[in-house]
Amino acid sequence: MSDVTRLLLVGAAGRMGKAVAAAVAKDPGLTIGGKIERGGALEPALDNCDVVIDFSLPEATEAVCRACAAKGRPLVLGTTGHSAAQKASIAAGAEKIPLVYAANFSVGVNALFALTRRAAALSGNDFDVEVIEMHHRTKKDAPSGTAKRLLEILQEARDGVEIPAHSVRAGDIVGEHTVLFAGPGERLELTHRAASRETFALGALRAARWVVSQPAGLYSMENVLGL
Ligand code: NAD
Repeated sequence: MSDVTRLLLVGAAGRMGKAVAAAVAKDPGLTIGGKIERGGALEPALDNCDVVIDFSLPEATEAVCRACAAKGRPLVLGTTGHSAAQKASIAAGAEKIPLVYAANFSVGVNALFALTRRAAALSGNDFDVEVIEMHHRTKKDAPSGTAKRLLEILQEARDGVEIPAHSVRAGDIVGEHTVLFAGPGERLELTHRAASRETFALGALRAARWVVSQPAGLYSMENVLGL
């Protein structure tokens, strides 16, 4: 591999695809080796790339994982809203290539994951816990992938008890997540607000730089950040 890492962007014309391209333009260690949109030929494009970043739709994931595994290209997968079958194709891909699968690439949200785990352990069962998330009106999946990850963390801490989640879809909200712990006479709220997509794009680039030197396996953003 040369000093400059070549990225293939899948979902390149979308909001996140454009944010990643803008972040790459400011990074001398990275370049765009190719862009793929719906209907584009994936496998030939992989020949000119060292690593793939995908922000598209869950329906694209199986083909992307299969092509990356066939060509031995590491994958950073930011798409959310996968079914169980689509998640199985991610796990199968990760047996052959290093694959970072993260519902949220921002450093702040990954800190929120760690703080939520800690607050759930400290607050105990006297506190009611709820997750509230807000996104722009065109976001397709609900609850968000980030909210689902928060629910998993909370359920692990609460022996599998179902935790309520509330989704708001309105305007151009980039992404907000609150974990509410409401106990007798007090309330703790952990909130993360994304102000622009740049935070997700920079995190995805950090994951891309990291994943190229990893062995095959399924990794999270917490792995990338060493949390
Ligand atoms: P978007 O609708 O703006 O863009 C998606 C793009 O993917 C579109 O240009 C669409 O034409 C393209 N596309 C659809 N099917 C395709 C296919 N088969 N092959 C190639 N391209 C295809 O959506 P967005 O806001 O950019 O979000 C994309 C995904 O990323 C969503 O699942 C969203 O939830 C997720 N997301 C993740 C993070 C994160 O940090 N992990 C952050 C923001 C968004």
